[in-house]
Amino acid sequence: MTSPLAATATATAAADIHYRVQAVDVDAHLFSVQLHIARPAAGQTLSLPVWIPGSYLVREFSKNLQGLSAEQDGRPVALAQQGKNLWQADCEANTPLVIHYQFCAYDSSVRTAWLDRRRGFFNGTSLCLRVHGQEDTPHTLQLLASDATASWQVATGLDAVDTDARGWGLYRAAHYDELVDCPVEMGSFWRGDFVAAGVPHSFIVAGAAPSFDGARLIADARKICETVLAFWHGTGEQATPAPMQRYVFMLNVVDDGYGGLEHRNSTALICGRRDLPRVGERKAAEGYTTLLGLISHEYFHTWNVKRLRPAEFARYDYGQENYTELLWFFEGFTSYYDDLLLRRAGLIDNAQYLKLITRTINQVLQTPGRHLQSVAQASYDAWVKYYRQDENTPNQTVSYYTKGCLVALALDLQLRREGRSTLDDVMRALWQRCQGGPMREADVLAVLQDLGGRSFAPEITQWVHGTDDLPLAELLAAHGVQAKAEPAQTAQRLGLRVQESQGITIKTVLRGSLAERAGFMAGDEWLAIELPTGAEDSQPARWRITRLDDVALYAGTALDIVAWVARDRQILALTLPWGSGLLSEAAAMVEKTDNGDAKAATSGTLAAPAPSNLGLEITDEETAGRWLAGHTGSAQAPATP
Ligand SMILES: [Zn+2]
Repeated sequence: MTSPLAATATATAAADIHYRVQAVDVDAHLFSVQLHIARPAAGQTLSLPVWIPGSYLVREFSKNLQGLSAEQDGRPVALAQQGKNLWQADCEANTPLVIHYQFCAYDSSVRTAWLDRRRGFFNGTSLCLRVHGQEDTPHTLQLLASDATASWQVATGLDAVDTDARGWGLYRAAHYDELVDCPVEMGSFWRGDFVAAGVPHSFIVAGAAPSFDGARLIADARKICETVLAFWHGTGEQATPAPMQRYVFMLNVVDDGYGGLEHRNSTALICGRRDLPRVGERKAAEGYTTLLGLISHEYFHTWNVKRLRPAEFARYDYGQENYTELLWFFEGFTSYYDDLLLRRAGLIDNAQYLKLITRTINQVLQTPGRHLQSVAQASYDAWVKYYRQDENTPNQTVSYYTKGCLVALALDLQLRREGRSTLDDVMRALWQRCQGGPMREADVLAVLQDLGGRSFAPEITQWVHGTDDLPLAELLAAHGVQAKAEPAQTAQRLGLRVQESQGITIKTVLRGSLAERAGFMAGDEWLAIELPTGAEDSQPARWRITRLDDVALYAGTALDIVAWVARDRQILALTLPWGSGLLSEAAAMVEKTDNGDAKAATSGTLAAPAPSNLGLEITDEETAGRWLAGHTGSAQAPATP
């Protein structure tokens, strides 16, 4: 099915590597692709990426590719498969070669491709075979409307060469990397435009409810973009130009979902319908703050990971895992700034920001794996650990997002305390030093030394390559923010992560926890508890429980209780030392500030401190405000060298 619109596109503008993509059957979720190679090599090889940059998992996109065939001069050409994602065409050199195939687009995430009657979306890493040896030549992409999609519009970060008013037509990329870094959204979407620091921005929203307040979203997104642009490039006459000519946000709104993927001049986002602001409602849902944080996060990546990036990513290898130890910097520091820049943009206040950073601190505190893997190791292992989470993940590794965010926080607070620099300056100096390109850990150390006036190797060694907790309570206290231990919820007290739906299913048993010592296992269904009773006691001893909160309700102050669990259809009785008084990790952390000696609090008989909550409170508004508002200048008098 080819629409009249498609016939008008000029074939003469096609590059040597030219893709024609059409949503050929929306109900079968099929995109058809024709790849025209003007000057193939003899025995040309082609492959499909196995991963998409920004999402560190081998996803084997070729599993959704079908109907592959080739022709040259009207004659069929044999394609020999040489691997899961690699083919060789039995073709002559320099005679145009055409490859035909289809891609089944049924992944609603931002990482692959989607097609149904309502919308289409794809990443080039899913739809565009790579022509080996010609990756660096210009590539063109022709988007053809079909009967089913003729009324749709198109949005992408690619440069338009010859397109109609809806966006159907010819697009151009300087090379394969650029082509596959520009996802394409198509459908009947909402669109808003704004200019920030002279750069035109478009915001595409697909699938929103009728109550959606687009004007509010655009106003807030604009504040975020202006704040991030000012962060990297300054304002007024001193401002340096942004690295992108324009920028496109592509937000897919679903019933329940969350995520985003960064690109050089666009981002693909997913959020839940209830998280969007609504017309006539001044107070937006809490989920809206999360969405703004996501927008801020992906936009910050435009600089931090898409341009400034690990040296190992100087040239992506699409055929296998690309390892780096630096995700703590690129994801962690981006995670530090995403919410902090919301605060500086005036979209959240100090208290809201502290709540967000408190949540991150507690997430790390409740991850026993932080004592096994450093954030550098966790970065390297992202492919097999962070992106392949299972019941044991929190025991084996630590998130380079959350702990990396805390490393940024600790560095910023330490720099500010010493009074010579801030992490903002470090980020900008790195941008200068590496010219917005590949970067190594040595560059971070060099810039820290330059701006901080001393070596920060001890901090990087301990915080990035070590597994001890960061001295956050002490650093926060120096900036007018007091940390205190708060009572643990039942899940934290026991060291369990559970799923509660008509019963309690154990998802994870944290290492060293009460639950582990009692013999709980992931997969157990926790049915009931039994309390110790005296002969004179008339209280029922056994209680059916369906929520974790029920344990505290019925167990009260009992010391040892029995947990009845179902495992492989057998009923087991586990003795749980419910009343066991343990010093929490948060308490240990706070104690560390008081006596300056972490070991005293966490060693000895307290072998298994129960994870608990840390709370933060501003005790000195002026000092805390200087950090949170991004002012330079020291929190205290500069330390003597
Ligand atoms: Zn990220």
